[in-house]
Amino acid sequence: MAAIELRGLTKVYPGGVKALDSLDLDIPDGEFFALLGPSGCGKTTLLRTIAGLETATGGAVVIGDRDVTGVQPGGRDVAMVFQDYALFPHMDVTDNIAYPLRIKKVAKGARREKAEEVGARLGLEHLMDRRPGQLSGGQQQRVALARVMATQAQAFLFDEPLSNLDARLRLEARTFLKKLQRELGVTTVFVTHDQAEALAMADRMAVMEAGHIRQIGTPAEVFQRPANTFVAGFIGSTPMNLLDGAVRGDTLEVAGCKVAVPAAAEGRLTGGEKIVYGVRPEYMAYSAGPAEGALSGKVAIVENLGASHLVTLDVNDVLVQAVVPEGSEPAVGDDGHALPRRDRALVYRDGELV
Ligand code: ATP
Repeated sequence: MAAIELRGLTKVYPGGVKALDSLDLDIPDGEFFALLGPSGCGKTTLLRTIAGLETATGGAVVIGDRDVTGVQPGGRDVAMVFQDYALFPHMDVTDNIAYPLRIKKVAKGARREKAEEVGARLGLEHLMDRRPGQLSGGQQQRVALARVMATQAQAFLFDEPLSNLDARLRLEARTFLKKLQRELGVTTVFVTHDQAEALAMADRMAVMEAGHIRQIGTPAEVFQRPANTFVAGFIGSTPMNLLDGAVRGDTLEVAGCKVAVPAAAEGRLTGGEKIVYGVRPEYMAYSAGPAEGALSGKVAIVENLGASHLVTLDVNDVLVQAVVPEGSEPAVGDDGHALPRRDRALVYRDGELV
């Protein structure tokens, strides 16, 4: 097991696309680290550069105490699982799991033993003689994981390993994978574009945009205190309200309403300056009657979220969303008042958290 360090890591593809722009990242030994970001931000490139499948244009990759920047993938002692599992269709489960050991020239008996041990651990013992075509998607995914585990690598690299599973299997696999990583304690880098997956599984995560890391933190930090408006808008199953505003004396003017300065920004704002006010729809107290410091308007849309409703208010031509518990949802056209929680609202100046 080993820590992973990236120092000024840069990758420019032939043709000039800068997929990674001087990234610095420290992933301690044993951590489950998620890389999250929109399509094309460089997640897969980063993972492949750690694995050695892409050559860095600049900077360094350190795994354990070893600078592996110039080392071939086979010499890096990391194991990678891809989106499509890449199982061999003509080999049975045992041989698929044992394949990396065959490459390492481990004797046949020892390979079988290891494959059976790991297979049993992943609940595959009754499937060891089957070929991938005779397995469900979830079972194939477990074979791919077993193959990685059998290698006893210093680090695991996962590129969207759950994306081929249906929604329910995906949830199951998520819990399973997290538990397994805990037990094994192997440093793991997990690429996903599914923020719920990153929030649920990671010890820490990085949010990337266009070759840059925009924030590193625990899921709770990234969710509750997004460092900039990019992360604020990206994280959250219902996007954060990001509303233009201005500082007026000791309050804020937002969408034509007077709201309190969030606790985190108190004493840090200058009268008259323009800001962006951020508050998650979940952190609003909604009422039909007026409330001081609320964003008040007319209900434009009501969406059913299951146990709650997402209410969109038109506040002086600005759309503001609030999550309202089931049973107290308003009707379209009603007057509505959304009071932001002062301890949860945030202020951004020039796109960065104040
Ligand atoms: P996705 O979530 O869609 O898989 P990603 O965040 O993993 O995206 P990458 O696949 O790392 O993004 O791509 C980063 C950027 O590099 C993109 O602009 C992409 O078009 C470009 N890119 C990726 N591979 C190559 C390549 N082999 N040659 C040239 N450009 C590439």
